[in-house]
Amino acid sequence: MGENIKVVVCGACGRMGQEVVRGLMQADNLQLVGAVDVRCVGMDIGIVLGGEAVGIEVSQDLRASIDKNNPQVMIDFTVPNVAMEHARLALSAGVFPVIGTTGFTMADIDELHQLCERTGLAAVVAPNFAMGAILMMRFAREAVRYFPRVEIIEMHHDAKMDAPSGTALKTAEMLAEEVEQSPGSKGGFIDKLAGVRGGDYHGVRIHSVRLPGLMAHQEVIFGGLGQVLTLRHDSISRESFVPGVLLAVERVTHAKGVIYGLENLL
Ligand code: NAP
Repeated sequence: MGENIKVVVCGACGRMGQEVVRGLMQADNLQLVGAVDVRCVGMDIGIVLGGEAVGIEVSQDLRASIDKNNPQVMIDFTVPNVAMEHARLALSAGVFPVIGTTGFTMADIDELHQLCERTGLAAVVAPNFAMGAILMMRFAREAVRYFPRVEIIEMHHDAKMDAPSGTALKTAEMLAEEVEQSPGSKGGFIDKLAGVRGGDYHGVRIHSVRLPGLMAHQEVIFGGLGQVLTLRHDSISRESFVPGVLLAVERVTHAKGVIYGLENLL
């Protein structure tokens, strides 16, 4: 077996960060060496997770953590502007970013492309690390060739800060790439309520639901003559994202440039 890949996790005390830290602690070939967050600063990350101390204190400062712990990969599950700053910092220090934080713009992705080119490193940006969601997007890409009239409903817990979800935006981008004429739904309706038909992205209507009790769910609904095809994915626990994150950590150090979407790593 090769050497362990050393990893620092940003947002380590958040909902996703904690799951990822647990996953890293159980992985054979990966080693958690640093935990960065603005919460629980100075606490041992093992205690934050409700277990025993593991000798890794939560730090507020990614640069200090990189200097001290010498990681090869940085995982980020924080908030968009912070994640972008972390990615810049990581690449400038020779560390490969794996970013799960959503809300990145195409301008952010372009900037990462340039930084990767300049440094010769790679970065993974994946709006959804769940395998089922990747398959849903792949099947949607297939379906849109036969059913170009399509809308997306994405549903998330009410603490999610961005809307629509990164997965919904990525799905709409993929649908638009697949067909020559813009996919989407019929226009010309009278909207009696502002926004009632959802947001239009690449011609695809996206509807965002935010409610307690939900985790991360998406339906891609295709309408045809006398028939409807619905593709649905449900993440019912945050564990669903962890295998994809660990896979990205293993692969990113052998990659070049920006890999936008887990599907491009499979
Ligand atoms: P969360 O529970 O709020 O966790 C984010 C953590 O980052 C919090 O502990 C937060 O602290 C911390 N943070 C904020 N600013 C920071 C900074 N400057 N430096 C270091 N840490 C900082 O959020 P979450 O539910 O884990 O989600 C995090 C991101 O992952 C979101 O963008 C979400 O959409 C995305 N997500 C992606 C996937 C995927 O598969 N790609 C799956 C699930 C979620 P405070 O709360 O004190 O600010």
